[in-house]
Amino acid sequence: MPKQNIYQLDERELIDQVAQWGFTREAGAAIWRCLHRDAPGSIQQVLGVPAALVQRLDEAYEITPVVADGQIGASHEGVLKYLLRLTDGVQIETVLLWYGRRRSGCISTQVGCACGCPFCATGQTGYVRDLTRGEIVGQVMFLQRELHAVGEALTNVVLMGMGEPLLNYTNTIGAIRRIVDRRGLALAERRVTLSTVGVVPGIDRLAREPLSVKLAVSLHAASDELRDRLVPLNRKYPLDALFRSIGDYVALTGRRVLLEWVMIDGVNDTREQAEELAYRAQGLHVHLNAIRLNETPGNKWRPSSVERIDAFTAILDEYGVPHTLRQSRGASVAAGCGQLRGSRQGVRTTPDQSAFAGSRASEDPVLDEGRVSLDVPSGTAGEAHVEDPQI
Ligand code: SF4
Repeated sequence: MPKQNIYQLDERELIDQVAQWGFTREAGAAIWRCLHRDAPGSIQQVLGVPAALVQRLDEAYEITPVVADGQIGASHEGVLKYLLRLTDGVQIETVLLWYGRRRSGCISTQVGCACGCPFCATGQTGYVRDLTRGEIVGQVMFLQRELHAVGEALTNVVLMGMGEPLLNYTNTIGAIRRIVDRRGLALAERRVTLSTVGVVPGIDRLAREPLSVKLAVSLHAASDELRDRLVPLNRKYPLDALFRSIGDYVALTGRRVLLEWVMIDGVNDTREQAEELAYRAQGLHVHLNAIRLNETPGNKWRPSSVERIDAFTAILDEYGVPHTLRQSRGASVAAGCGQLRGSRQGVRTTPDQSAFAGSRASEDPVLDEGRVSLDVPSGTAGEAHVEDPQI
């Protein structure tokens, strides 16, 4: 019988299993603590319980995902992208970003994606399957293990990797609960960001969850005509419905929503788009994060010029819509959605202290405040891997 991913179990299931094997419930609790605090790389590395129990555990469970053959090395840009292999052999991308004191994991929630955003590499590969709760948590623990190895720890998690999190709602929310659970990874809820392209029923449902995580919506266009092309899911959940949902979310939670906008030359950086956006966003508790499109092979679009971005944001200023032009990082490590999985090339490295030391907070005052993103999205059309998109 194939081994199961141990992170798929919840605490009670694990303790019950250990008790069924004839060991104490305290031993089960000790395993749980070790799994989430120490992030062991294998079952054999579980400490603090009898060797016979570790052996029994090892016969039934494994720790996944594991690194596959395409890890891309650390760069001066503070990005390390991993290709991870799941139990059934499929591969996903997980990204570690660091800047200043932040150590952020950009996590995938699906293998591939059905949304088909035209400038997203994952969107071009199609949907394969949802990730389980355990596979989502397993990615986080993988990054935690990498960081522990150099005396560091994750500070933020962004669900902006491959896939649309709200189309894998149950497993995504289950994983978030584990990430913020005091008996799990114990990350503060405000340090977790979920990014969606606008699955309205999912946003409505999320608003009612007792979770104070941040919500980011990849908007990219303010007219249905254009957004239908850039974010095909807009045909199902058009802008009126999306902004109604965002407004309800703000009213119910009191939390600001982040709007992500990849600046594409001559496409969505026009005066008309800026005015339409300002009209829709005016008075809403939202903040727009603009980012220049990353140039990727085969992409017919180009990033907006600085002049066009300035003109665009000047209109937002006129209407009082808060915004930030975010830093773009990661192109040198192909840290865009699906790029690594597509290319399967790279230099195998692990993070080290010198890499972290190279990410100086003083290099960019915008990044100091946590407004960090990469270029191409895994999870949001156009803007990949936001370290912490909240300001
Ligand atoms: S941008 Fe996100 S939602 Fe769109 S295809 Fe890519 S992964 Fe899917």
